Amino acid sequence: MRVTFPRLGTMHIFCKAIAETAGIPYLVPPKTSRNTLALGVKNSNECICLPFKVILGNFIEALQMGADTIVMVGSGPPCRLGLYDLVHKVILEDLGLGYRWLTIPPGLTWDALMRNHQETKPLRKDLTLKNYLTFPYALYVGWRKMLATERLEKLALGVRAREATKGGTERNLQRALHMLDEAKGAKEVTEAVKEGENIIQGTEQETGRRPLKVAIVGELYTVMDPEINGRVEQRLGELAVEVTRTSWFSTHIGRSLGLGRENKRERLRFYQSSLEYLGYDVGAECNVSVGETIIRAGEGFDGVVHLMPFACMPETTAAAILKQVSRDYHIPVLTIILDEQDVESRIQTLLEAFVDMLQWRRQKKLKEG
Ligand code: SF4
Repeated sequence: MRVTFPRLGTMHIFCKAIAETAGIPYLVPPKTSRNTLALGVKNSNECICLPFKVILGNFIEALQMGADTIVMVGSGPPCRLGLYDLVHKVILEDLGLGYRWLTIPPGLTWDALMRNHQETKPLRKDLTLKNYLTFPYALYVGWRKMLATERLEKLALGVRAREATKGGTERNLQRALHMLDEAKGAKEVTEAVKEGENIIQGTEQETGRRPLKVAIVGELYTVMDPEINGRVEQRLGELAVEVTRTSWFSTHIGRSLGLGRENKRERLRFYQSSLEYLGYDVGAECNVSVGETIIRAGEGFDGVVHLMPFACMPETTAAAILKQVSRDYHIPVLTIILDEQDVESRIQTLLEAFVDMLQWRRQKKLKEG
């Protein structure tokens, strides 16, 4: 058995930690590249949303490299993510790629558990008693690594906006993440986080700088994966913008499992704010995108960047509403629609123009007193 999983942001760090700690053979799919996307696009319906194509590309690459068991997160209606696994399986079978499949249920329902029980049947014979016994600890180490990567990434968001040399924070963040990736066991994770924080904080900074404040909202895959969004977060930081985002693995896992009171309160706050424009839950991140923009306007943020894949149903709804929210709450919103044609120069130009406009607005406000 050799398990694999989608490649999304820093997810490979904690997925690898779980497999490694439990002694389960694994294969980390290669970083999402033009080749990944080309494989996904070639073998999908052109109208399906971008994350579907990227994840399919990840799976094809991993299976071709020797993985044989795919672990995928499940979801439910109304979003298409709930149907990804059904369609992915058909395509992989048509391509003649052998695989076994395990869906992590999005919630602890009876149906999901029964399905999980069926899917794990052929896998169980490959697992040893040691795998079972170490699995709870492996989950703990994976969870700790996930929180640790988020802590380092959040720290980098503040430092990057003040860095003296462009790219300094990113280099240090990558160094810190690499150390964390190498850490074995909970004790080493704690040490790696401390060391990583020191490395990131050691980036030379211009402390007098007053960065613009921008929130990134939108579809979770495009918000969390720098390979797909053309490194929007990094680019904004390097334009001296302090970025905030609330879409993290811990947010979504916590929401599914009902964990994290603070997190739940924040999501509920966003959701309730959106009700002024949306009378019901549209699905995925739509209500949160709208609600968070309203909240950020009240908190004095300079602007919002809204990311969405081409053909994403919930975020297309959000994009239309955000135009009105932007007018009503006087907060500039830049919606970037991402698709497989994207070129980095387009994203850079859009962000530079947006940041220039935000600087101009700030100067104007200062002059007006
Ligand atoms: S949120 Fe959008 S992009 Fe993501 S699966 Fe649903 S429709 Fe597709």
